[in-house]
Amino acid sequence: MKCRFCKTELETVFCDLGHQPPSNSYLKPAELKEAEVFYPLKVWACHECFLVQIDEFKSHKDIFSKDYAYFSSYIKSWVEHAKNYVEKTAIPKFELDKNSMFIEVAANDGWLLQHVKANDIPCLGIEPTASTAAAAREKGIEIKEIFFGEETAKQLVKEGIQADTTMAVNVLGHVPDLVDFLTGFQIILKPEGVAVFEIPHFLRLVQDNLFDTIYHEHFSYISLISIEKIAESCGLKVIEMESLNTHGGSMRIYLARTESKHVRNQNVDQFLQLELDAGMDKIEFYQNFQDNINKIHINFVSYLIEQKKLGKKIAAYGAAAKGNTLLNYCGVKSNLIDFICDISPHKQGMFLPGSHIPILHPDAIKEQKPDIIFIPAWNVFDEITKQLSFAKEWDTKFVVAMPELRES
Ligand SMILES: [Zn+2]
Repeated sequence: MKCRFCKTELETVFCDLGHQPPSNSYLKPAELKEAEVFYPLKVWACHECFLVQIDEFKSHKDIFSKDYAYFSSYIKSWVEHAKNYVEKTAIPKFELDKNSMFIEVAANDGWLLQHVKANDIPCLGIEPTASTAAAAREKGIEIKEIFFGEETAKQLVKEGIQADTTMAVNVLGHVPDLVDFLTGFQIILKPEGVAVFEIPHFLRLVQDNLFDTIYHEHFSYISLISIEKIAESCGLKVIEMESLNTHGGSMRIYLARTESKHVRNQNVDQFLQLELDAGMDKIEFYQNFQDNINKIHINFVSYLIEQKKLGKKIAAYGAAAKGNTLLNYCGVKSNLIDFICDISPHKQGMFLPGSHIPILHPDAIKEQKPDIIFIPAWNVFDEITKQLSFAKEWDTKFVVAMPELRES
């Protein structure tokens, strides 16, 4: 297998999570009677460009054309994060007004662009998934139902569309061809435009053992070291960086055309130094992660088994994709976790891929009064425990497995 960016033959396995079903392939009851397809989930590190990556076993069109069930707006704190970015950062920083153009790639259900529109700034969403695109249109947002890349960017420019700024949140990792994708931004930006990306930071993934953010749809695990090389090859330069606390630690990265007047902020070099201090420019950094995963696996499964021996009823809350990597790697099924609740009506009545744990309406928590509620989405732990505070009436314990097993 060759590096998807620099084409070097890959030699270093970062981790091997066995065979797993695609993490967003929730199953309908009838599908439980059929065979389920599992793909290897092995992550490699490139010793030349340090891009961490999985092999692409399914074409991304296959994954996303299946009724993709993730609607950003169901997470309240996430919508708040979008509003803050639009109103406190993007509008003042890029001096956006009614003559500007704000493009969001992977606009989902309009979770972010609704705030751009509310401030009377012209905007356009790019969203290939029909169900979420429809939800965005209901908010009055113009959506192009296409995959973004070099060709589609050229097409948009032909139609007279160019951006003062673009945003793409948690998208870069899901793109199979990073060069084609970033080249699209180089084309769609106005000469002095700025493309902004939020990406989970790979350094934090390693430091906090966040292996549950690894799944088939997530092709690349990105550091500043690796993304800077890729951006340069697409005619873009890094001009600014910010650290964010979303998704266990993310980076917000600002890119502009190489020939633009933008100068590199010194916070880019400070950020880079953090990565160099951690050793991310040496292949040894990428070699011991499997041991950390195995520790989480043993602690989590022993906890569940001990509690089951005591006769406890265990539920989970929030059927996020990341929970599936953990549950399937650990081999947890509905004999250990009785059911999982999710606020999204698109998931209720279905079953988690691999583990086949049934997904129920959140009311099931009140009805069944579980002794333990496991929360796979550790990144929104506080929001969820607040929503479920009523469960403390019967002394429920809330549990997370990442970055280490914790009960509260
Ligand atoms: Zn490489």
